[in-house]
Amino acid sequence: MAGIEAQAGANRFGPRIMSLAEHLAQWSEQPDALTVTYFSEAHRKVAAELDVLLRAAGMEVRTDPIGNVVGRYKAAQPNAKTLLLGSHYDTVRNGGKYDGRLGILVPLVLIEHLNRTRQRLPFNIELLCFSEEEGVRFPIGYLGSQAIAGKFDRKNLDATDDDGIPLRKALEEAGVDVGSLASLARKQDDLLGYVELHIEQGPSLLNADVPVAIVTGIAGAVRHRVTVEGEAGHAGTVAMQFRRDAGAAAAEMILALEKRCQEIPSLVGTVGQLLVPNGAMNVIPGRCEFSSDIRASTNGVRDAAMMDVLSSFNQIARHRGVKVSAEEVLRMSAIPLSPYFQERLKAAAERLGVSPLLLPSGAGHDAAMMSSLTPSAMMFVRCGNGGVSHSPLEIVAEEDADFAARVLLDFLLNLAEEHNA
Ligand SMILES: [Zn+2]
Repeated sequence: MAGIEAQAGANRFGPRIMSLAEHLAQWSEQPDALTVTYFSEAHRKVAAELDVLLRAAGMEVRTDPIGNVVGRYKAAQPNAKTLLLGSHYDTVRNGGKYDGRLGILVPLVLIEHLNRTRQRLPFNIELLCFSEEEGVRFPIGYLGSQAIAGKFDRKNLDATDDDGIPLRKALEEAGVDVGSLASLARKQDDLLGYVELHIEQGPSLLNADVPVAIVTGIAGAVRHRVTVEGEAGHAGTVAMQFRRDAGAAAAEMILALEKRCQEIPSLVGTVGQLLVPNGAMNVIPGRCEFSSDIRASTNGVRDAAMMDVLSSFNQIARHRGVKVSAEEVLRMSAIPLSPYFQERLKAAAERLGVSPLLLPSGAGHDAAMMSSLTPSAMMFVRCGNGGVSHSPLEIVAEEDADFAARVLLDFLLNLAEEHNA
């Protein structure tokens, strides 16, 4: 029944989702780009607008001290459990309108629909609009979902932004009692789970011509800051055989990392930062620093690659007479997602005539934090324009947004039937 009901109104939700995405994109820190970082003026304006929208959709709304806007659409009966839906409303610098926000707006229009048609489900729905996921202003990330998952680390409070302002001070200036953050952790027993919709941020769905994917797990990552020390010298007077060129050594290391990470499809490795401190065109690099980011769908695959890569760095350094050191700066475990929710999301898409792809997520998401609290799942929505995200070129087709909404509605109504049975 639910499937038929959802199918009947094809593209009922698409236009509303698209216009809300445009609406929220009017607030930015930059006039010609979409930038909404933690606790900026634009960030507060978006939060205030979400409060208005969620209230109008029939939810009880509060903004918690870390900046999450939380809307609650009550169950048909008291003492019911709660299903969490949501994603983040902050953006990267010069970002897109759908990263994070699609996962807020799709559930929002569905709750508007349930409210309009006077439907209450046998569980509460809470829409979590997470305040911070991207780690742009403070180099942390997941601030909103960390707090709710009970994973907020007090060490975060000492992290500083580019102006040297510690997170602690930014929070205190916003009137937040930092001692209260621990109390944001939710109780497991009250929850059914967490489901997050997100744009894919890659081209797999586009290439397969499928609108949605069910995410099978979130990749584990390990990051290093690598320093190569050689010897600076005159670019004109030191013969090639006498050089200990830190830049050339780093180049060889980067290629070794790339080669190793090409061996397995679910393994990826990236050097996103590469620096020659005090470098000049006429100086042999005496020092070179670069970042290494290795991810895989299992911790084992990730760690095997990391060990091989670090050992090849050492070999290259020995061979070239330079020193290399690698400091681990981040390690995130691969995260399996709830098979129970994966099955039901897949069945919902199939009832609407689509066989969804099954994809691992190479990026971390709020679901990575939430999965430590409650069974969690994710659905990816096709990203247009070659799959580009974290860019103003990021697009989602209206029909795909609509389809994702109908899948989520079908999923919710079927879950409701299961709970009523
Ligand atoms: Zn995101």
